[in-house]
Amino acid sequence: MSFDYDLFVIGGGSGGVRAARVAAGENGAKVALAEEDRYGGTCVIRGCVPKKLMVFASEFSGMVEDAQAYGWDVKPGAFDWDLFRGKLHVELDRLEGIYRNILKNNGVESFDQRAHVVDAHTVELADGTRMTAKHILVATGGRPVVPEFPGSDLAITSNEIFHLEKLPESILIVGGGYIASEFAGIMNGMGVKTTQFYRGAQILRGFDEEARGLISEEMCQNGINLHLGTNVLEMAKDGDKIRVKATNGTEQLFDVVMYATGRAPNADNLGLEAIGVERGRKGEIIVDDYSQTGVPSIYAIGDVTDRVNLTPVAIREGMAFVETVFKGNPTPVDHDLIPTAIFTQPEFGTVGLSEEDAAAQEPVEIYATSFKPMQKAFAGGTQRVLMKLIVSQATRKVLGCHIVAPGAGEMIQLAGIAVKMGATKEDFDRTVAVHPVMAEELVTMRHPVRTA
Ligand SMILES: Cc1cc2nc3c(=O)[nH]c(=O)nc-3n(C[C@H](O)[C@H](O)[C@H](O)COP(=O)(O)OP(=O)(O)OC[C@H]3O[C@@H](n4cnc5c(N)ncnc54)[C@H](O)[C@@H]3O)c2cc1C
Repeated sequence: MSFDYDLFVIGGGSGGVRAARVAAGENGAKVALAEEDRYGGTCVIRGCVPKKLMVFASEFSGMVEDAQAYGWDVKPGAFDWDLFRGKLHVELDRLEGIYRNILKNNGVESFDQRAHVVDAHTVELADGTRMTAKHILVATGGRPVVPEFPGSDLAITSNEIFHLEKLPESILIVGGGYIASEFAGIMNGMGVKTTQFYRGAQILRGFDEEARGLISEEMCQNGINLHLGTNVLEMAKDGDKIRVKATNGTEQLFDVVMYATGRAPNADNLGLEAIGVERGRKGEIIVDDYSQTGVPSIYAIGDVTDRVNLTPVAIREGMAFVETVFKGNPTPVDHDLIPTAIFTQPEFGTVGLSEEDAAAQEPVEIYATSFKPMQKAFAGGTQRVLMKLIVSQATRKVLGCHIVAPGAGEMIQLAGIAVKMGATKEDFDRTVAVHPVMAEELVTMRHPVRTA
């Protein structure tokens, strides 16, 4: 049977673009890709990239005070959101252009339209054009969802935060996950009066408790008005503000309310159920270790499969798909020991098991130290950092490494290599410290602070 394409990719985000370009560019496959919105997807247009640039922008406010303490004659100035937002979107346009060119230069034919699946080998575009492909790769990502309650339509999500007409005077951020907590830091740093509500007992559920505790404490120290165990009951327009009634009995006015309480996979109306592709409880596409669905010609990667929703993981899954399907080398994706960074202020870098999960699995030793870093301490700052290792008592392997500190994301990328290689505590100890840096503590902690 002959097909129009070897591969049709639906979705031009991190995973889809990588799979399309490698299949076409390195393997000579005839590839098409449909993107209904902007090339680059969530990460480039409304996720990692603009968020990190906003983190950078927000961090300058604290630097002025530090610079003064180090002897610089500098005065805090006002933050010009208009100027920043303008430059941000010029940068995002540039990056989108790069993604389009990557596809073009690798011979991928792109269609700027929504696409859905008609049968195991046929895709239909929004304009009704039908095309056949030997393989179909669904890489449609995810989207933020706001729960329904009175006034919920007044809330914005992370999609809209990059487009605010003006910087609000006050914002309420609802949610306790990494996106909510990162934006609380960003807004606070930009000078916005920031309140965060989270219905649970502590933000960043699932991560190491000691690390979560320190981050939340430092966020409060930085001026974020964090209310744990608190949720919104209802919201209503009040002039040009939003009146928010909360479960803690308060009623407050905010300029903007941002919800970051959950995301859903973009798998609706793709025609998948009709052809027998199975979906899970959250609507995610069910795939095997090779990203193959129950329909052999259809694969799915990235956030739409709701495995580990991170850009480098979507990219890995895309590469493994090409390796499996176009290189005849079946390659499962290894989702174990993925290092990751959370760009809260302070930043959090983490790999492996939390103390709680490790202790539930086997007897462990905990090595941890929390201290005032030199740079901040000199400036009179009270901020603390945390360096923590979870070590198996039986194998001596480092099962988890958790760093709360400026630059923790950069540090955990490197510590992640050691942990992934199965390094033991003694391997860490054999490594000579780099001095004076914060991360030297990772190789100089001699005695466990406790066993668990
Ligand atoms: C605010 C925020 C911050 C984040 N920060 C980080 C971070 O710091 N580090 C990190 O690793 N990850 C981060 N992520 C997660 C990361 O962005 C995602 O894991 C990643 O983008 C997933 O890639 P993907 O290819 O699966 O999907 P996406 O990048 O979402 O791409 C899917 C694409 O498919 C398109 N599409 C959907 N349906 C159709 C259709 N029917 N037809 C045609 N096109 C369609 C969409 O328009 C989209 O462009 C963040 C996410 C958010 C929201």
